[in-house]
Amino acid sequence: MSAVLLASSRPKARKNHRCETCTTTIPAGETYLNQRCVFDGRVYTYKSCALCVELDHYVIAWMGGWDDDGLNLDTVEEWAREAALSLSVDESQAAIDYLRRRGIGLEGETD
Ligand SMILES: [Zn+2]
Repeated sequence: MSAVLLASSRPKARKNHRCETCTTTIPAGETYLNQRCVFDGRVYTYKSCALCVELDHYVIAWMGGWDDDGLNLDTVEEWAREAALSLSVDESQAAIDYLRRRGIGLEGETD
């Protein structure tokens, strides 16, 4: 069974929220993606910060298309670890920025 999207909006946060893609705080006043979905009879909301919305298309392309599990922390982290070494400068930078938001260091990274 796959998740079904019921509604999607881009509200401005009235209070702090947690980005479910990178776990950082979406501060009040920032525009974020708010999706209401149903999975297995259970309705839930999924919130993403503006930066994570920007990398969705990279992750979905890397996955070979949308699958039943959708995006989750493990999937996005796996993509980011590979994509950080990608030849595409934009995708690589998005991946490195994502790993930094998650507080995940790259192996072999030197400061
Ligand atoms: Zn995020």
